[in-house]
Amino acid sequence: MTAPFLPFTRPSIDEETIAEVANVLRSGWITSGPKVQAFEAALSAYCGGRPVRAFSSGTATLEVALRLAKVGAGDTVITTPLTWVATANVILEVGATPLFVDIDPVTRNIDLDQLEAAITAETRAVIPVDLAGLPVDRDRLYAIAAKHKLRVIEDAAQSFGASWRGSPIGTTGDFVSFSFHANKNLTTGEGGALVLPADVDPALCERLRLQGVKRFPDGGMDVDVLGGKSNLTDIAAAIGLGQLKHLAEFTERRRALARRYFERLDTSLGLELPPADFENTNWHMFQPLLPDGIDRGAFVAAMKERGIGVGVHYPALHLFSLYRSLGWQAGDFPAAERVGARTITLPLFPAMSDVDIDRVCAAIADALPACRR
Ligand SMILES: *Cc1c(COP(=O)(O)O)cnc(C)c1O
Repeated sequence: MTAPFLPFTRPSIDEETIAEVANVLRSGWITSGPKVQAFEAALSAYCGGRPVRAFSSGTATLEVALRLAKVGAGDTVITTPLTWVATANVILEVGATPLFVDIDPVTRNIDLDQLEAAITAETRAVIPVDLAGLPVDRDRLYAIAAKHKLRVIEDAAQSFGASWRGSPIGTTGDFVSFSFHANKNLTTGEGGALVLPADVDPALCERLRLQGVKRFPDGGMDVDVLGGKSNLTDIAAAIGLGQLKHLAEFTERRRALARRYFERLDTSLGLELPPADFENTNWHMFQPLLPDGIDRGAFVAAMKERGIGVGVHYPALHLFSLYRSLGWQAGDFPAAERVGARTITLPLFPAMSDVDIDRVCAAIADALPACRR
């Protein structure tokens, strides 16, 4: 008997959640309604009472946050080239200019010294990304933002459940954006949420989420701003409410599994491991870097043959054709390029067993030596 295929991630949805989704489907109200309001209230409670609005994707929250921060043509926004491409695409989407700075090779998050050095008169905002759920240093980040009067839009798509000095991500800061895509630590299938700063009107955020429509008690309406269409459905919100009940347990299980990787991975293989942080990180992903001279494509294929899914998150995004066409090129951000070329994402999700981790470690020891270029 061969063991079943082990994907790099898989959502954990319980029967109670499935029953709640069925209830929504039977209720006659399946778009944004009472479940979305309840989900927003629960997210707000999690975020220490800050206003939170739910969206159809994390990408939409980032774009709306940029619009709420009044970032547009003529402005630059500083971010990292080592992230999911959504982080940079939204900057272009609102007509602003992305300004990338390289990563810190240890944390793999944006290098805050280089960030501060890159600030110009046109810089309006920064979008830090907590890659793999390892938080960017919030103390340093907000000191820089205050000094240079920059807005911060935290791309916390991967760090829901993580914390900074004991405070859950989302409870402090400026704009905080979460994604609930199927692969994230908490999922609604597709979805996202935006935590709003005190100087932003939540009603304006709601209008940007739904065609700019303002409704009056007498049934009348007006449109006073150009809004998109990125509201969440009650079907999705019901999944989110079910997921939230398990968040603490999911994060704890991910931490235990990550610890086991540190204990069981053969150090003689030359893998470069991520920072062993069990205080803050929610272990959204476990990402070693391959050693010199390994063909990553061959390694991913060899692991697949052994029944194990390995992901690549992410190649440095300035090397994608679109960004190259805008002027970026190989050599611009050597640290991000090095990580982007070597990174692998090993299976890590709450329903995994300890034995699964051992199976992954054994498969790596078996497969890696044969993948030398
Ligand atoms: C997933 C993700 C997003 C986008 O989220 P969607 O919900 O897929 O739109 C943005 N940034 C990062 C870093 C992500 O991982």
